[in-house]
Amino acid sequence: MLKQDEFSYRRGVLACEKANLSGIAEIHGTPAYIYSRRAIVSRFREYEDALAGLPHHICFSVKANSNLAVLRALASEGAWFDIVSGGELYRVLSAGSPAGCVVFSGVGKTEAEIRFALEQGIHSFNCESEAEIETISRIASSLGRDASIAIRVNPDVDPATHPYISTGLREHKFGIDIACAEAVYHRASQLPGVVPEGVSCHIGSQILDAGPLLETAEKAIALIERLCARGLRMRYLDLGGGLGVPYRPAQSAASIPAFIQGLREKLSGLDLALMLEPGRSIVAEAGVLLTRVLLVKQNGGKTFVIVDAAMNDLIRPALYRAHHEIIPVKEPAGGELMEADIAGPICETGDFFARHRQMPHVTAGDLLAICTAGAYGFVSASNYNSRPRPCEVLVEEARVLLVRKRETYEDLIRGESLDRDPGAKQRFDPSNPNIVHTDLEDDRLTCHFRPGSA
Ligand SMILES: *Cc1c(COP(=O)(O)O)cnc(C)c1O
Repeated sequence: MLKQDEFSYRRGVLACEKANLSGIAEIHGTPAYIYSRRAIVSRFREYEDALAGLPHHICFSVKANSNLAVLRALASEGAWFDIVSGGELYRVLSAGSPAGCVVFSGVGKTEAEIRFALEQGIHSFNCESEAEIETISRIASSLGRDASIAIRVNPDVDPATHPYISTGLREHKFGIDIACAEAVYHRASQLPGVVPEGVSCHIGSQILDAGPLLETAEKAIALIERLCARGLRMRYLDLGGGLGVPYRPAQSAASIPAFIQGLREKLSGLDLALMLEPGRSIVAEAGVLLTRVLLVKQNGGKTFVIVDAAMNDLIRPALYRAHHEIIPVKEPAGGELMEADIAGPICETGDFFARHRQMPHVTAGDLLAICTAGAYGFVSASNYNSRPRPCEVLVEEARVLLVRKRETYEDLIRGESLDRDPGAKQRFDPSNPNIVHTDLEDDRLTCHFRPGSA
């Protein structure tokens, strides 16, 4: 919510740091994602400060917010990155960070992604199956490399969160059952091209109580001790992400310092580097989705506030029935509230941001801020209903930087073709299958990725 002073009313108008949101709407239009750089950096520093003196790396989970400017802001503070696709690696490199600060997670990596990551020289892979370890071993050997790997173990801990973002139970698709892990480490240690030297876990997301995370740490440390007893050298413990944030005023989340203090106690005396992969807890509260009221209508005795943002821009309410606080940009004077559904223009009943919400009276043209939208917001936006995706704006004090342009109608049809043989002009480069070179007559879309070119 608005617990952070980065979003507050200044002279009656909601501001992000020192920039007024109605001014931003005038310049950049709506819907727009607005991020506070200071909020992002200060949450990251909370982790860093709490971990001072302990060998560690905070690997920001790129899938939570992958805007290049956000990645660069975090990199400038010393962040490492946790990625789940080749595309996310491309983004980290494009933001100017070296591959050596990247950890590659995910249950299904393609051979092309593995090769791309090895060629770029990432720090390590978090592996979730023996089949994947064998694939990495084969590709790394063929490239003459040794890949550092951690095995993602499934500690069978219930994180008590939404079922779609709970990942650490035995019946989930993620990780390897911790009970089988020793045997898998043993086999991995005999393969060429891979060096098993870490244990990783990630039990879910939006975890409000640090208890399950600490229980996971305990189980992982016990595993590391068993592995060491077998003569395997473990260098790092990666506990994943997952710390939650309050989406409702009444909700409270474990504080970062309290969570880290709990971890410190468990790690003391161990010769291990700690890795964490927070996403949501760093960026969620640092962003809002700014939207304008198109109209207010009554139907069947209900009031509907129809806004210009929709589920394609922010899918969390439709997908998880997630709650977001929604507040007017013009400070409400107090007085009577109305009950309304706040919904977008998309042709789906699921296209809503709030239902039966008590809110101040609003009328057409008013601006609303959908709060706590900095994580899993823009990154899961789509073009459904052929709606251009919103712009993204990064605020630093009074400076307002457009860090991603609003898409245009032209963007919507980019890559489509009315040609009978649209593939004719594309070359697929087998040495780097991540990149398709598209040669159009005027060469406009030719795209060549050169590592380190950012
Ligand atoms: C999603 C994810 C994260 C980040 O989770 P948050 O809840 O955003 O902190 C970290 N690690 C892995 C492997 C993930 O899949």
